[in-house]
Amino acid sequence: MPQTKERVPAVEGWFTTGDSPALLGTRCTTCGTYFFPREESLCRNPDCDGRDLEAVELSRRGRLWSFTDNRYQPPAPYVSPDPFVPYAIAAVELAEEHLVVLGQLVPGTDTAALRAGQEVELVVGPLYEDDDHEYVVWKWQPV
Ligand SMILES: [Zn+2]
Repeated sequence: MPQTKERVPAVEGWFTTGDSPALLGTRCTTCGTYFFPREESLCRNPDCDGRDLEAVELSRRGRLWSFTDNRYQPPAPYVSPDPFVPYAIAAVELAEEHLVVLGQLVPGTDTAALRAGQEVELVVGPLYEDDDHEYVVWKWQPV
């Protein structure tokens, strides 16, 4: 009988899972600056003395700002499948948040077919697995 591995986030508290996954950031209630990963204690905007940061889900869609292939296994503590499978990585600009967020592109993405400015959407997919769990992370998927 096939076993279903439990899907768990590879990093806790950085994103939601489910049908419409989203990155979890914070937003300064004084100046509106967004932070990802989350800033918890004070606003890092030098022109702002705000200390109230609210938890927010970031936009699920953005535009390709830059991208490349990664053909070398990253060193620990990064965890990757063994044998290593090359993947494409993207920097994605979230317009409303004025943030650029790095992430893998979904497996099988042909970087030769990508172009800067193209719209991508956040999905959740496997990063690696062990005997009992499949560890997932956010990935960008061309729309
Ligand atoms: Zn602020």
